Amino acid sequence: MLSDEPRGPKVLVVDDNIPNVELLEAYLTAAGYHVEKAYDGEEALEAVNRDVPDLVLLDIMMPKLDGYQVCQRLKQEEKTRFVPVVMITALKELEDRIRGIEVGADDFLTKPFNKHELLTRVKSLLRIKGLHDEVEAYNRLLEEKVAERTAELQRAMEELKELDEMKSNFLATISHELRTPLTPIKGYVQSMLSEVLGPLNPTQRKGLSIISESVDRLHGLIEDLLAFIKMDRDEISLDLQNFPVSSLIQERVERALPKAKEKGIVLNTELEPNLPDVKADPEEIGRVLSSLLDNAIKFTPSGGTVTVKAKLVHGPVIASELVSDEDVADELRRYIREPSTVNRQQDSDFVEVSVTDTGIGIPPDKIEKIFDQFYQVDSSSTRGYGGVGIGLAIVKQILEAHGSRVVVRSKEGVGSTFSFRLPLVSKSPSP
Ligand code: ADP
Repeated sequence: MLSDEPRGPKVLVVDDNIPNVELLEAYLTAAGYHVEKAYDGEEALEAVNRDVPDLVLLDIMMPKLDGYQVCQRLKQEEKTRFVPVVMITALKELEDRIRGIEVGADDFLTKPFNKHELLTRVKSLLRIKGLHDEVEAYNRLLEEKVAERTAELQRAMEELKELDEMKSNFLATISHELRTPLTPIKGYVQSMLSEVLGPLNPTQRKGLSIISESVDRLHGLIEDLLAFIKMDRDEISLDLQNFPVSSLIQERVERALPKAKEKGIVLNTELEPNLPDVKADPEEIGRVLSSLLDNAIKFTPSGGTVTVKAKLVHGPVIASELVSDEDVADELRRYIREPSTVNRQQDSDFVEVSVTDTGIGIPPDKIEKIFDQFYQVDSSSTRGYGGVGIGLAIVKQILEAHGSRVVVRSKEGVGSTFSFRLPLVSKSPSP
């Protein structure tokens, strides 16, 4: 069927009454609309399938499919859902209208037609449809833009991931390369200091001691970097062993003694005798202890004290879950109000290790942040403490890998305590 190019919006008129169709066509064509005609429901659906109109004028009583069925189908189909349907009803037929609303009709027109009413309704519905089409088109555009941006972001993320891996590999290689030559340097410095390689005069001894301290500092930094890379790659794997934590503490305290002495800080231990063995990774817990000791010494002025304690505690997991005094107070208040909401199931025996200093302390609003990577409370270029801000991030990660947490209690100008709990070796039933 050949038809002229549409001049205006396309209206499909559906009615089995030919004079009615002709009348509607005459009104609509004169008003500049392009009219398509169908004489029953099936023909109407075929016409819609061929080319979706902008509006449908639909009679109700027709052979084959009636108007309600046609309307229902149009409103169910994705591509015709938003085409306005005006149902043609006889005057005052309320029931027809109710059913029409039920099947999704947008408006009604009563017979006999009033030309003015017809054109006003058609015009207003087409205006709404036009706005709707604009919104749809805009939505589609937005969706395309979002999809484009998402794809761009995805690409950028992949690139970042690759770069991150490259950075991490590079750091790992560099750290290993830096560590290798340090081993013989440390060995020779120690041999010289113990005079295995010959006697030293006081000036040589002083010089070698300074070299030894610097090498130790470099070694610590490289070890921290390697631990950080492992953590960054989620590669912390624990080698759990049963061991007495007191010996580990003594060992790490001894390592820290020269630095404390040099700064004029007293380094004490208060270790409860006969503590049961803990189950943890001694290498990683040693790293935690050294890191906390280094910080305690670093942030305590000369004349101060650093004390490492270890004691047996029995209690809820609360203390190891909270990082500030306010958290503990909140939790206690909650416990008093609603005891059942606080998980006390994990009450158990632990060895609690703490490192207390009489140093500069940490402002309350910074306590949470000090565990973030690269965070330093005082990061100004004038700070004289050294370090790169990864020590506590590593401490946190290692303790979390052990199912534990670090708890901080601190007061500015008074000092800080960092403590953590380690699980005991579970008792196996005696034979
Ligand atoms: P770094 O010591 O290399 O700066 P850390 O991650 O070990 O990095 O510590 C982060 C920050 O937390 C420190 O820069 C310091 O501001 C604060 N901090 C850590 N330990 C103490 C402490 N014992 N006393 C006061 N401030 C501390």
